Amino acid sequence: MRWISFFFFLVGLQTTCLAQIYLTPAADTERIKQACSLLQTYAPKIYEAVVQHATMQLQVGRDGEIFASTNWVEPGDPKIIWIMLGPGSVRERSINHLAGTIFHESLHLLLVEERIRNGVTGFFKELPETQQKEEELRIYLLQLDLLAKMGTQKEEIEEIRRWMEPYKNPN
Ligand SMILES: [Zn+2]
Repeated sequence: MRWISFFFFLVGLQTTCLAQIYLTPAADTERIKQACSLLQTYAPKIYEAVVQHATMQLQVGRDGEIFASTNWVEPGDPKIIWIMLGPGSVRERSINHLAGTIFHESLHLLLVEERIRNGVTGFFKELPETQQKEEELRIYLLQLDLLAKMGTQKEEIEEIRRWMEPYKNPN
């Protein structure tokens, strides 16, 4: 699969960043650590390139959406990479689902860094809508592969499939 090898190529280009930091309540941190340890097993390259360096934080979407997660790169040396997790994904679904969410944001972060490196905007929201949808769709497909590999329950896989649905149509 071309996209998988593309991500592995990006992984090879990683520069120095900080160790993992949790800006989360203890119970949430425990769940995030468990999810990260799943990623260490099932997606070791993504874990090494992004997950183990990320600063994790909870964040409710502007519209109050508790399942919306996002990411941010704070420039500097060493740079800080943030993964901001919707509390719904941290608390109301399985650890597998949470691992899938962290994986999803990590792939966005690899692409952000690649764009910055190429002198293109790092901001996802500034990309043309078709490109945003394409990126989401490809990341969701890899996320679904990961969830299946981890033996995630069907209902949760189906839920992610429904979340992916709006990105299927490029227009
Ligand atoms: Zn996304």
